[in-house]
Amino acid sequence: MQRRLALVAFASFGTFAPVARPAPAADPLLPQALAVPGGVAIVELGVRGFRGVRGAAPPSAHFGATPVLVRARGKAWVAVVGIGLAADPAQPQSLTVREADGRERQVTFTLKRKQYAEQRLAVAPRHVELSKEDLARYERERAHLGVVLRHFSATREPATLRLVLPTNGPRSSSFGLRRVFNGQPRSPHGGMDIAAEAGTPVLSAAAGEVIDAGDYFFNGNTVIVDHGQGFLTLYCHLAAIDTERGKALAPGAPVGKVGATGRVTGPHLHFSVYLNAQSVDPALFLPPA
Ligand SMILES: [Zn+2]
Repeated sequence: MQRRLALVAFASFGTFAPVARPAPAADPLLPQALAVPGGVAIVELGVRGFRGVRGAAPPSAHFGATPVLVRARGKAWVAVVGIGLAADPAQPQSLTVREADGRERQVTFTLKRKQYAEQRLAVAPRHVELSKEDLARYERERAHLGVVLRHFSATREPATLRLVLPTNGPRSSSFGLRRVFNGQPRSPHGGMDIAAEAGTPVLSAAAGEVIDAGDYFFNGNTVIVDHGQGFLTLYCHLAAIDTERGKALAPGAPVGKVGATGRVTGPHLHFSVYLNAQSVDPALFLPPA
């Protein structure tokens, strides 16, 4: 506790530079910055050079061992960092930045706190008390999805980090809720639920490539799209998958239909956004509701 108080006092004097600064609201290509657990930190890495001179190539940045998305914003390079829901806002965060010429440095930034509410849900008992077979299946799928969601295509640069709504319907603000299924605590909600009738088309939220499509125990029929540099979107509980692995998608291309497969209370689209292998609040990437 002593340490935390000291840290807050230190930060309040503004000596913790450079600190993540929110992107201008008008930036049409970046998500809304919100440096909280489950949010996105936009961290300035330095001034861009001119083409043909030192500094023209973007630096690379890692958050822990995970590469993060780096792009130009005006005259600066910025890292667009996904902050996991489990991140501790009391701890300063650090990026390892490597310049094109090989020099390495640390850039620190701070997080703010965000309290997420609790949500209690009733689902089929099979999806809470797992049988031995279902548990084994879940473990296999968790390992597979863990690899897929760490996918980082360094050469694919997303044209924009702003997304289109993947299906028409009311959006819940349930990202990050601490969930209790049939009275038992489970992992927090890593996406946005969009209510829509079964069979409603589900569209890719941006240009990309399908890197995974399959039927999973909790997620049901699922499609995962890679938009480049660790920026991924995931579409779950689909009634049908209308695309396949390896397919290149334009923004708004069909990926499937809304359904109720996997662990659900009824038909809806579960939509997740990943940056550097962390699920972050999709609302930061979508036009205002
Ligand atoms: Zn959901």
